[in-house]
Amino acid sequence: MASRTNQWALVGCALLCVAALPWVDSARLSAAEGQPQPSVAVANFPVASAARLAGDANQTRFILDLDRTVTFRAVTLADPYRVVIDVPQVNFQLPAGTGSGRGLVKAFRYGLVMPGGSRIVFDLTGPAKIANSYVLEAANGQPARLVLELEEIDRAAFLQALAPENRPELRPAIADAPPATIPVAPVAAPSKPAVPADGRPVVVIDPGHGGIDNGTQSSGESEKNLVLAFGLALRDRLEKTGKYRVVMTRDDDTFIPLNDRVKVARNLKAALFVSIHADALPRAEGDAQGATIYTLSDKASDAEAERLADAENRADAIAGFNLAEEPTDVADILIDLTQRETRTFSNRFARLLMGEMKSTVRMHKHPLKSAGFRVLKAPDVPSVLVEIGYVSNKGDLEHLVSEGWRSRAVGSMAQGIDAFLAKQMATAGPAN
Ligand code: ZN
Repeated sequence: MASRTNQWALVGCALLCVAALPWVDSARLSAAEGQPQPSVAVANFPVASAARLAGDANQTRFILDLDRTVTFRAVTLADPYRVVIDVPQVNFQLPAGTGSGRGLVKAFRYGLVMPGGSRIVFDLTGPAKIANSYVLEAANGQPARLVLELEEIDRAAFLQALAPENRPELRPAIADAPPATIPVAPVAAPSKPAVPADGRPVVVIDPGHGGIDNGTQSSGESEKNLVLAFGLALRDRLEKTGKYRVVMTRDDDTFIPLNDRVKVARNLKAALFVSIHADALPRAEGDAQGATIYTLSDKASDAEAERLADAENRADAIAGFNLAEEPTDVADILIDLTQRETRTFSNRFARLLMGEMKSTVRMHKHPLKSAGFRVLKAPDVPSVLVEIGYVSNKGDLEHLVSEGWRSRAVGSMAQGIDAFLAKQMATAGPAN
């Protein structure tokens, strides 16, 4: 399947990101994208070959088998209760289905959170402490192992353990990560970073999820891969026109926090921000199909929109971020006026986009909705979030993995973007 081949290419891309400076420019990776990478590149990372849980609801032990020892850092997070283990980039070759829970662990997941850094996130059944954590060297025929031992505690003790004096800095690995402000690398852009290199409007394409956050999943397909493939195809289509500078919030399998996605658009003074997702309906809630275009609103347009925004806004928690520490840089009363105008533009774009998309894409029965998506909160950049279909629906999923469908859908979206920006530019005059 196309997405599987892609995954390997993407691991290779991630390596390039470590070697070169990440976030320099989306164009940098375009040559690597889609081409198979030499398998030697993948072999350079430590390989995790098995993971298991043992124990009960009082004490639970996690063991990860590795082909060599790694450095790591383990921390607990509250609300929801989680344990996060950060390691250097690891090539996870765990059997399919790895990640179900036992004892104090409800479930766990693993993957890249940034180039050079992998993470394992455990959802806990309740408050627990890290009683012990260590790495064992290979010995007596056993591989190197990373071991985490959890013990049940009460909430008061859990919160006490979270107090700043009781834990080292929460996320140095993340803090060390290059900021997601695309052009700051001095090598690539010695001039003013926030201004686009040319006068063309900047379109930011934001494939949802990535890395440790798979998004919705069905029949072996992950939302993160489907929307990345779609986003890259849309980028290529828009770039071909030569009219826009197109920037991706991610062009590989890396996790990007929601705020950073918004920052990319704001720092580049983007003319448009388009977030790409694929929805899923839990089996118990029946079936739904078709694409939906979402804009920002304080109050969700219906219950389904609210459920979806809640789910999409959970991305940072899924990736093991401490939401309490996320800076809220979009918190100024002065923003309000701009925001009102921006919302008008966002709604206009959503309508134009629907008009174009409905000719090639099966749309949801209520295709225009709104809710409080965090990723749409740039006060000065017209933003929409497109759920391109339901991975939980058989027909939609067939479309989502089809290159022919993707090409037609991307063509319609590009036309919608064209129609919107042509009007914007006509209104704004040549200065923009
Ligand atoms: Zn999503």
